[in-house]
Amino acid sequence: MDTRDVIRLLGEISLVDDRVVKTDELEQVAQVRLWAAALRDVPLAFAGEAVGQHYAESAYPVMPKDIAARWRATARDRMQRHAERRAPAVDPDDVDGYVLALRADRAAVVTGAEPPAPVRALVAGVGRAVEAAPANPGYLATKAAMFPKRERPAGPPELAVRCPTCGADAGRPCRTLARGRTMGNTHPDRQRDYAVAAADAPAQASA
Ligand SMILES: [Zn+2]
Repeated sequence: MDTRDVIRLLGEISLVDDRVVKTDELEQVAQVRLWAAALRDVPLAFAGEAVGQHYAESAYPVMPKDIAARWRATARDRMQRHAERRAPAVDPDDVDGYVLALRADRAAVVTGAEPPAPVRALVAGVGRAVEAAPANPGYLATKAAMFPKRERPAGPPELAVRCPTCGADAGRPCRTLARGRTMGNTHPDRQRDYAVAAADAPAQASA
């Protein structure tokens, strides 16, 4: 809401409650400025509804904080029900543009211009339907033939030995020394240890 919206809202309020709007002209200017600052994020239509709800529940003159509190509760509720339904139609490499587009999407939900997107509820419905479908034996047999479990690669062979650099146990991935993050590859000394062990005992290393 800007000052023009506030003047319009105060005009409507004065029709139902003559205690709210100041009568002195200087006080009116200060009042409009205060309301506009307090309700800057609140759309005029929402403020009008909030005033109606206030007088449905309260005998006291409406104050900006009454409207702002209803707005905060509504915005929070909308965002809790909102899941990002799609990536913005902006080049993801254009970081600033992407963030702006995301923010615009969320602002549209908060202000009520767009309804919240209940993606989680839709996905839950899809999941039930998939679970109910019976497993197709032909598909399972084909999958087993194409991807035999034993032939699935189990990571680099040097995982069979302990890593002397980061101390990862056999079968565990290497971790970076600085931050302890799991590595996609292994430390060179572990590869060397494995090569030595495999050369010494080829039968055991392949087991
Ligand atoms: Zn390591």
